[in-house]
Amino acid sequence: NKSKHKGKYNTGSGRAPHGFKHAKSLGQNFLNDQSVIDDIVEGSEIDEQTLVVEIGPGEGALTSELIDDAGYVIAIELDDRLIPILRTKFALHDNFEVIHEDILKVDIKSIVDESMRAHGLTKTRIVGNLPYYITTPIITKLIESKARFESLTVMMQKEVGDRIAAEPGTKLAGAITYAVHYRCTVDKVCDVSRESFYPVPKVDSVVLRLNMRDKLAVQVNDENNFFRCIKAGFSMRRKTLLNSLQALDDVNKDVIKHALESANIDPSRRAETLTMEEFAELSNSIWKE
Ligand code: SAM
Repeated sequence: NKSKHKGKYNTGSGRAPHGFKHAKSLGQNFLNDQSVIDDIVEGSEIDEQTLVVEIGPGEGALTSELIDDAGYVIAIELDDRLIPILRTKFALHDNFEVIHEDILKVDIKSIVDESMRAHGLTKTRIVGNLPYYITTPIITKLIESKARFESLTVMMQKEVGDRIAAEPGTKLAGAITYAVHYRCTVDKVCDVSRESFYPVPKVDSVVLRLNMRDKLAVQVNDENNFFRCIKAGFSMRRKTLLNSLQALDDVNKDVIKHALESANIDPSRRAETLTMEEFAELSNSIWKE
Protein backbone atom coordinates (compact mmCIF):
# COMPACT_ATOMS: atom_id res chain seq x y z
CA ASN A 1 0.00 0.00 0.00
CA LYS A 2 1.95 2.95 -1.35
CA SER A 3 -0.20 5.70 0.10
CA LYS A 4 0.83 4.57 3.57
CA HIS A 5 4.31 5.92 2.92
CA LYS A 6 3.34 9.19 1.31
CA GLY A 7 4.37 12.36 3.02
CA LYS A 8 7.30 14.58 3.78
CA TYR A 9 9.71 11.90 4.96
CA ASN A 10 10.62 8.47 3.69
CA THR A 11 9.14 6.40 6.46
CA GLY A 12 10.33 3.09 4.99
CA SER A 13 8.57 0.23 6.68
CA GLY A 14 9.37 0.97 10.31
CA ARG A 15 6.23 1.34 12.36
CA ALA A 16 6.55 1.27 16.11
CA PRO A 17 4.12 -0.87 18.08
CA HIS A 18 2.30 2.29 19.16
CA GLY A 19 2.02 3.66 15.64
CA PHE A 20 4.78 6.21 14.98
CA LYS A 21 6.17 5.75 11.48
CA HIS A 22 9.95 6.06 11.68
CA ALA A 23 11.47 8.19 8.93
CA LYS A 24 14.46 6.34 7.51
CA SER A 25 15.45 9.52 5.73
CA LEU A 26 15.91 11.21 9.13
CA GLY A 27 17.95 8.36 10.59
CA GLN A 28 15.21 7.49 13.06
CA ASN A 29 16.34 4.47 15.05
CA PHE A 30 15.05 4.99 18.56
CA LEU A 31 16.72 3.57 21.64
CA ASN A 32 14.73 0.95 23.50
CA ASP A 33 17.38 -0.41 25.85
CA GLN A 34 17.37 1.11 29.32
CA SER A 35 20.92 -0.01 30.16
CA VAL A 36 22.30 1.85 27.13
CA ILE A 37 20.29 4.94 28.05
CA ASP A 38 21.74 4.76 31.57
CA ASP A 39 25.29 4.37 30.21
CA ILE A 40 24.94 7.41 27.95
CA VAL A 41 23.52 9.62 30.69
CA GLU A 42 26.19 8.51 33.14
CA GLY A 43 28.92 8.90 30.50
CA SER A 44 27.78 12.48 29.77
CA GLU A 45 28.78 13.58 33.28
CA ILE A 46 25.90 16.00 33.83
CA ASP A 47 24.66 17.52 37.06
CA GLU A 48 22.16 20.15 38.16
CA GLN A 49 24.58 22.93 37.18
CA THR A 50 24.67 21.68 33.59
CA LEU A 51 22.82 22.91 30.55
CA VAL A 52 22.28 19.95 28.22
CA VAL A 53 21.68 20.41 24.53
CA GLU A 54 20.24 17.23 23.10
CA ILE A 55 20.50 16.58 19.38
CA GLY A 56 17.59 14.64 17.87
CA PRO A 57 15.50 13.66 20.93
CA GLY A 58 13.14 11.47 18.89
CA GLU A 59 10.35 10.40 21.22
CA GLY A 60 12.41 11.31 24.27
CA ALA A 61 13.99 8.01 25.33
CA LEU A 62 17.19 9.77 26.48
CA THR A 63 15.53 13.10 27.18
CA SER A 64 13.58 12.00 30.23
CA GLU A 65 16.76 10.83 32.00
CA LEU A 66 18.60 13.99 30.99
CA ILE A 67 15.79 16.13 32.42
CA ASP A 68 16.10 14.29 35.73
CA ASP A 69 19.84 14.98 36.08
CA ALA A 70 20.46 18.33 34.34
CA GLY A 71 19.74 21.93 35.31
CA TYR A 72 18.04 22.53 31.99
CA VAL A 73 17.59 20.59 28.74
CA ILE A 74 17.18 22.06 25.27
CA ALA A 75 16.32 19.45 22.67
CA ILE A 76 16.72 20.23 18.97
CA GLU A 77 14.52 18.08 16.71
CA LEU A 78 13.86 18.44 12.99
CA ASP A 79 10.81 16.17 12.55
CA ASP A 80 7.69 18.29 13.06
CA ARG A 81 5.63 15.20 14.00
CA LEU A 82 7.76 14.73 17.12
CA ILE A 83 7.44 18.27 18.48
CA PRO A 84 3.93 17.92 19.98
CA ILE A 85 4.79 14.43 21.25
CA LEU A 86 7.80 15.80 23.16
CA ARG A 87 5.95 18.90 24.43
CA THR A 88 3.11 16.76 25.78
CA LYS A 89 5.36 14.12 27.28
CA PHE A 90 7.44 16.65 29.23
CA ALA A 91 4.75 19.26 29.85
CA LEU A 92 5.15 18.96 33.62
CA HIS A 93 8.87 19.71 33.57
CA ASP A 94 9.89 23.34 33.70
CA ASN A 95 13.56 22.60 32.91
CA PHE A 96 12.87 21.46 29.33
CA GLU A 97 12.25 23.05 25.97
CA VAL A 98 12.28 21.76 22.43
CA ILE A 99 13.47 23.74 19.43
CA HIS A 100 12.01 22.67 16.10
CA GLU A 101 15.09 23.13 13.90
CA ASP A 102 17.79 21.48 11.85
CA ILE A 103 20.86 21.09 14.07
CA LEU A 104 23.04 21.97 11.08
CA LYS A 105 21.28 25.33 10.73
CA VAL A 106 20.95 26.58 14.30
CA ASP A 107 23.23 29.19 15.84
CA ILE A 108 24.50 26.94 18.60
CA LYS A 109 26.64 29.63 20.23
CA SER A 110 23.67 31.96 20.81
CA ILE A 111 21.49 29.11 22.08
CA VAL A 112 24.16 28.06 24.61
CA ASP A 113 25.05 31.61 25.71
CA GLU A 114 21.45 32.71 26.16
CA SER A 115 20.30 29.58 27.98
CA MET A 116 23.24 29.49 30.35
CA ARG A 117 22.56 33.10 31.25
CA ALA A 118 18.77 32.68 31.50
CA HIS A 119 19.00 29.62 33.74
CA GLY A 120 22.10 30.61 35.70
CA LEU A 121 24.04 27.50 34.72
CA THR A 122 27.82 27.12 34.75
CA LYS A 123 28.55 24.55 32.07
CA THR A 124 27.12 22.99 28.96
CA ARG A 125 27.30 19.47 27.63
CA ILE A 126 25.91 18.30 24.31
CA VAL A 127 24.41 14.82 24.06
CA GLY A 128 22.74 12.88 21.29
CA ASN A 129 21.96 9.65 19.57
CA LEU A 130 22.86 11.14 16.22
CA PRO A 131 21.07 10.74 12.91
CA TYR A 132 23.84 8.71 11.23
CA TYR A 133 23.51 10.29 7.79
CA ILE A 134 24.97 13.54 9.14
CA THR A 135 27.28 12.39 11.97
CA THR A 136 30.45 13.99 10.61
CA PRO A 137 28.88 17.35 9.65
CA ILE A 138 27.22 17.62 13.09
CA ILE A 139 30.43 16.87 15.00
CA THR A 140 32.49 19.17 12.78
CA LYS A 141 30.00 22.01 13.09
CA LEU A 142 29.77 21.77 16.87
CA ILE A 143 33.46 21.47 17.69
CA GLU A 144 34.35 24.25 15.25
CA SER A 145 31.63 26.54 16.56
CA LYS A 146 32.60 29.16 19.08
CA ALA A 147 29.97 27.80 21.49
CA ARG A 148 31.26 27.22 25.01
CA PHE A 149 30.66 23.60 26.00
CA GLU A 150 32.66 21.01 27.90
CA SER A 151 31.87 17.86 25.99
CA LEU A 152 29.90 16.17 23.26
CA THR A 153 28.63 12.68 24.12
CA VAL A 154 27.34 11.09 20.96
CA MET A 155 26.18 7.77 19.59
CA MET A 156 27.31 6.97 16.09
CA GLN A 157 27.85 4.08 13.72
CA LYS A 158 30.72 1.91 14.99
CA GLU A 159 32.92 2.31 11.88
CA VAL A 160 32.76 6.11 12.15
CA GLY A 161 33.38 5.96 15.89
CA ASP A 162 36.43 3.73 15.42
CA ARG A 163 37.91 6.26 13.03
CA ILE A 164 37.23 9.18 15.34
CA ALA A 165 38.61 7.36 18.38
CA ALA A 166 41.76 6.23 16.52
CA GLU A 167 45.02 7.93 17.44
CA PRO A 168 46.32 10.24 14.72
CA GLY A 169 49.21 8.48 12.98
CA THR A 170 47.65 5.02 13.18
CA LYS A 171 46.07 2.83 10.52
CA LEU A 172 42.42 3.76 11.12
CA ALA A 173 43.05 7.51 11.17
CA GLY A 174 41.27 9.69 8.61
CA ALA A 175 40.88 13.44 8.14
CA ILE A 176 38.09 13.48 10.77
CA THR A 177 40.48 11.91 13.33
CA TYR A 178 42.81 14.93 13.11
CA ALA A 179 39.93 17.43 13.08
CA VAL A 180 38.53 15.93 16.30
CA HIS A 181 41.80 15.29 18.16
CA TYR A 182 43.01 18.82 17.36
CA ARG A 183 40.23 20.24 19.57
CA CYS A 184 39.17 17.31 21.77
CA THR A 185 40.32 14.32 23.74
CA VAL A 186 38.23 11.23 23.05
CA ASP A 187 36.80 8.72 25.53
CA LYS A 188 34.77 5.68 24.61
CA VAL A 189 31.61 5.42 26.73
CA CYS A 190 30.20 2.10 25.45
CA ASP A 191 29.59 -0.18 22.52
CA VAL A 192 25.96 -0.56 21.50
CA SER A 193 24.44 -3.49 19.66
CA ARG A 194 22.04 -2.82 16.79
CA GLU A 195 19.43 -4.76 18.80
CA SER A 196 19.17 -1.83 21.23
CA PHE A 197 17.18 0.21 18.67
CA TYR A 198 13.79 0.19 17.06
CA PRO A 199 13.73 -0.26 14.14
CA VAL A 200 16.91 -2.37 14.21
CA PRO A 201 19.54 -0.68 12.00
CA LYS A 202 22.02 -2.52 9.76
CA VAL A 203 25.05 -1.52 11.83
CA ASP A 204 26.32 -1.61 15.42
CA SER A 205 27.10 1.61 17.24
CA VAL A 206 29.42 3.19 19.75
CA VAL A 207 29.07 6.11 22.15
CA LEU A 208 32.04 8.48 22.41
CA ARG A 209 32.58 11.48 24.63
CA LEU A 210 34.59 14.24 22.98
CA ASN A 211 36.02 16.52 25.67
CA MET A 212 36.87 20.01 24.46
CA ARG A 213 40.55 20.77 25.14
CA ASP A 214 41.48 23.94 27.04
CA LYS A 215 44.47 24.21 24.75
CA LEU A 216 44.53 22.94 21.16
CA ALA A 217 46.62 19.80 20.53
CA VAL A 218 49.18 21.59 18.35
CA GLN A 219 50.08 25.12 17.36
CA VAL A 220 49.65 25.99 13.70
CA ASN A 221 50.31 29.23 11.83
CA ASP A 222 47.01 29.02 9.97
CA GLU A 223 44.19 26.63 10.90
CA ASN A 224 42.59 26.79 7.50
CA ASN A 225 45.82 25.74 5.77
CA PHE A 226 46.44 23.03 8.38
CA PHE A 227 43.07 21.45 7.56
CA ARG A 228 43.55 21.92 3.81
CA CYS A 229 46.82 20.04 4.13
CA ILE A 230 45.18 17.16 6.05
CA LYS A 231 42.29 17.01 3.61
CA ALA A 232 44.67 16.90 0.64
CA GLY A 233 46.79 14.24 2.36
CA PHE A 234 43.72 12.00 2.69
CA SER A 235 42.26 12.87 -0.73
CA MET A 236 43.92 9.80 -2.24
CA ARG A 237 44.39 7.34 0.58
CA ARG A 238 46.58 4.88 -1.28
CA LYS A 239 48.96 7.46 -2.66
CA THR A 240 52.14 8.79 -1.13
CA LEU A 241 52.04 12.21 0.49
CA LEU A 242 54.08 13.70 -2.32
CA ASN A 243 51.31 12.69 -4.74
CA SER A 244 48.23 13.27 -2.62
CA LEU A 245 49.39 16.76 -1.65
CA GLN A 246 49.18 17.71 -5.35
CA ALA A 247 45.51 18.21 -4.56
CA LEU A 248 46.62 21.58 -3.15
CA ASP A 249 46.30 23.24 -6.52
CA ASP A 250 47.78 26.57 -5.45
CA VAL A 251 51.05 24.98 -4.27
CA ASN A 252 53.64 23.68 -6.70
CA LYS A 253 55.38 20.34 -6.40
CA ASP A 254 58.78 21.81 -5.50
CA VAL A 255 57.33 23.68 -2.55
CA ILE A 256 55.74 20.44 -1.33
CA LYS A 257 59.05 18.57 -1.75
CA HIS A 258 60.96 21.19 0.22
CA ALA A 259 58.31 21.41 2.92
CA LEU A 260 58.37 17.62 3.41
CA GLU A 261 62.13 17.75 3.60
CA SER A 262 62.28 20.57 6.13
CA ALA A 263 59.60 18.88 8.26
CA ASN A 264 61.69 15.70 8.11
CA ILE A 265 58.90 13.65 6.52
CA ASP A 266 59.70 10.95 3.98
CA PRO A 267 57.69 11.88 0.82
CA SER A 268 56.77 8.22 0.26
CA ARG A 269 54.81 8.01 3.54
CA ARG A 270 51.01 7.96 3.55
CA ALA A 271 48.81 10.51 5.31
CA GLU A 272 47.55 8.22 8.08
CA THR A 273 51.13 7.64 9.32
CA LEU A 274 51.61 11.31 10.20
CA THR A 275 51.19 12.46 13.75
CA MET A 276 49.27 15.65 14.53
CA GLU A 277 52.62 17.40 15.16
CA GLU A 278 53.97 16.30 11.77
CA PHE A 279 50.89 17.65 9.95
CA ALA A 280 51.30 20.90 11.89
CA GLU A 281 54.95 21.19 10.95
CA LEU A 282 54.24 20.26 7.34
CA SER A 283 51.52 22.88 6.89
CA ASN A 284 53.63 25.46 8.69
CA SER A 285 56.46 24.85 6.25
CA ILE A 286 54.31 24.77 3.10
CA TRP A 287 52.89 28.17 3.98
CA LYS A 288 55.70 29.90 5.80
CA GLU A 289 54.73 32.90 7.91
N1 SAM B 1 17.29 10.33 20.77
C1 SAM B 1 16.29 9.44 20.23
C2 SAM B 1 16.55 8.05 20.74
O1 SAM B 1 17.68 7.77 21.11
O2 SAM B 1 15.61 7.25 20.77
C3 SAM B 1 16.26 9.46 18.71
C4 SAM B 1 17.56 9.22 18.00
S1 SAM B 1 17.42 9.02 16.24
C5 SAM B 1 18.87 8.06 15.89
C6 SAM B 1 17.90 10.60 15.55
C7 SAM B 1 16.93 11.75 15.76
O3 SAM B 1 17.45 12.93 15.13
C8 SAM B 1 15.55 11.55 15.17
O4 SAM B 1 14.57 11.92 16.10
C9 SAM B 1 15.51 12.48 13.96
O5 SAM B 1 14.22 12.96 13.64
C10 SAM B 1 16.41 13.59 14.42
N2 SAM B 1 17.06 14.37 13.33
C11 SAM B 1 17.40 13.93 12.10
N3 SAM B 1 18.00 14.91 11.41
C12 SAM B 1 18.06 15.98 12.22
C13 SAM B 1 18.57 17.31 12.08
N4 SAM B 1 19.16 17.72 10.95
N5 SAM B 1 18.44 18.18 13.12
C14 SAM B 1 17.84 17.77 14.29
N6 SAM B 1 17.35 16.53 14.48
C15 SAM B 1 17.45 15.65 13.46
